[in-house]
Parts: sequence; C-alpha cells; structure tokens
Amino acid sequence: MRFSTKALRVGQDPSGHQNLAVIPPIVQSATFAWRNLDDIPRFDYTRVANPNRAALEEVIAGLENGKHAVCFSSGMAAVMAAFSLLEAGDHLLMASDIYGGTQRVFENVLPRRGIGGNEFDASRPETIREQAKPNTKMLIFETPTNPNVRVMDIAAIAREAKALGITTVIDNTFATPALTNPLDLGVDIVVHSTTKYISGHSDIIGGAVVTNDADMSHWFFEHLKTEGGAPSPFDCWLTLRGVKTLAVRMERHCANALAVAEFLEGHPNVERVHYPGLKSHKDHDLAARQMRGFGGMMSFEVKGGAERARRVAENTETFILAESLGGVESLLGYPPLMSHGSMTEEQRLGKGIPPTMIRLSVGIEDVQDLIEDLDRALRA
Ligand SMILES: *Cc1c(COP(=O)(O)O)cnc(C)c1O
Repeated sequence: MRFSTKALRVGQDPSGHQNLAVIPPIVQSATFAWRNLDDIPRFDYTRVANPNRAALEEVIAGLENGKHAVCFSSGMAAVMAAFSLLEAGDHLLMASDIYGGTQRVFENVLPRRGIGGNEFDASRPETIREQAKPNTKMLIFETPTNPNVRVMDIAAIAREAKALGITTVIDNTFATPALTNPLDLGVDIVVHSTTKYISGHSDIIGGAVVTNDADMSHWFFEHLKTEGGAPSPFDCWLTLRGVKTLAVRMERHCANALAVAEFLEGHPNVERVHYPGLKSHKDHDLAARQMRGFGGMMSFEVKGGAERARRVAENTETFILAESLGGVESLLGYPPLMSHGSMTEEQRLGKGIPPTMIRLSVGIEDVQDLIEDLDRALRA
C-alpha cells in the first residue's frame, strides 16, 4: 500500500469496529470490563491502551515505514520518552538548531538527572566524531530547522552516529512522513509533535515516537504507562481524522509555500528569504535529494529594521499572528518575541535570528490571497 492509501486504511479496518463503522467510533471509556479472570483483555484501562490510540499508533507507524509507534499527550511528552532512554552519567549531543522546548529540557531538566550534553552543528555531520565523548549515548536533531529552515543530511548524520554506537533521534515534525522517512535513512527513533502537520487542524496537542526496534518500543510503552502522558481518545480520533488528508494537505502546503517564497524573494521590502525550495537556498540540492517536497515552513527578513518587521507581523489579515505551525490556516510568527523569545538578543543573533525575521507557516488557502496579504503588510 502506498502513502495516501495507508493514511486512509492502516489501523482503520471496519471489521475491527463496532457495527462495522467505517470511521473508528470514539471509545471514551476509562476502563473496560473483563469477561473472566482467565482472559486478560487487550484493552483494560485507557492510560495503558485504548482503541483510538491503538488505531492512531498503527497508522503513524505505517506512514513512517516503522514497525512501532507510541502516541503521547504532547510532542514534548514524546521527546521526553526518547530522552528516558538516557541514564545518569550519559552524554547527549543536541543539534544547536532545535525546538525551544527541547532546548529547555537539555538546559534545565537533564542536568538534574545527571545527564550532560553538548550542542553540535548538524549541518556538519563530519564533526560528530570530534564532539562525541566515550559516554555519548544519544544524538537529537531536526530538519528542516526552525526558524532558519536549514536542511540537514539525515543519512550522513545517522551513519556517523551509528559508527560511534550513538542512538539517533530526529524530530520529524516540520518535514512530516509525507516528505521524509528518517527510519529508512538509518535513524533509530523518530519523534513528532502531532499537534502540527500530522493532525493538521490546530485543534489538538499530541506527540508520537516511532521506531523499528522492539526493545525501544517496549520501553516507550512502559514509559507512557508508568509516567502517564497518554493522549485522550477524542484527541486520538481527531488526529486520525487529520492524518487521512496529510498527503493532499502537504501537496498544497508545498505548492503555496513555493509561490509565496518566490513572491517574497522578488519583493522590494524583503532582504532575504529562507525556503529550501528556492534555488538561492544553501541547502536546496540536499533538500531536493532528501525530501519529496520542500514543506510549508519559511522565514524571511524584512528590510528597514525591527520596527518595520513588527509592523509587517501585526498587519497581515489572512496570516494569523500566532505561535505554532502545520495547520490548514496560515500563521505568522515573530521569532524574537514568540518561538525564540526566551533567548537573549545575542543568543538569537548567534543562531542567525535577526530582529527583522518573520516566520510563516503557509496554509492551504488560495495562494493569491496569501500573496496579496503579505504585499499589503509589507507596504503598510
Ligand atoms: C511544537 C513542536 C514540539 C513540541 O510539541 P508539543 O505538541 O507542543 O508539545 C516539538 N518539536 C517541534 C519541532 C515542534 O514544532
């Protein structure tokens, strides 16, 4: 079965549903009755297992070409599940361009558990060997990155790490399994914030961890069962509804984003556009090789200073000024005050985030409306 068909059928066979319902019914029950004491039921208590979560886990594993998936109540809970493989005394390599929540865990949570780490430049896989220590157990990175939309060479990073016996974790939230399947490229663990493209409608918070390794998958399940970050049946149901249209949504996100990026690149009030679909982007060739589309995320730098950038951010109408990404509606973010607001100006500049930067999550609206909206705001 191919990607779009899997999204509609894996984990969703009507023969497994009450009354042969085509759509999995929402099983909003905390607990399940036992027929007798000899047969332990598959579903017993919803923190441990629930039919809606089971269906979602099956389809997400299928879309990532993975054997096992475990779903969590948020993307951060999924990241924490991956980190739960680490013990006191272990060392973690974390890409310097990483989601802010993951950075907070690295800085504030892992050190209290005796887990040290270093940041590394994931755009230079050949440096992993120098950065690794004898106790480096895990490496985590993302591609495309936020908000510079750099693309990292997944196969090269996985190869370097594997040679050193380091477990690789990728946060595949931005690319989605529609555009990249990191397990096929040698990565050990894929994490997702399903809040974003996978659910796609900005109406749930969720996460997932996917792997081909049965022992790791068992560990993630035990972690979920024990620490308790299970998603609700209704959130799983909504996420599964979103998954069905992931392939068509991503096609439209990619097409709209490319048109918006080309428009911005030619705009007199725009300094620079960061979108891997543009030939001018540093990682264009790698992205073309590695991804089945260039995605819906981009950023650009406004000419004329921070005040002008703030004015642009506050003056769009079709683009909604809001955190998050990956929904059908277009969102605009101002990284210095939103996603990267907890950093100092100096830290931001070090990461290539000037005060003139604006981030876009390009939605599936009519692209002409999006372009006209940005043009109006850029000239305001
Ligand atoms: C949003 C996001 C997360 C965190 O996910 P939540 O669902 O908000 O907990 C992690 N990684 C990336 C890349 C994200 O965009």
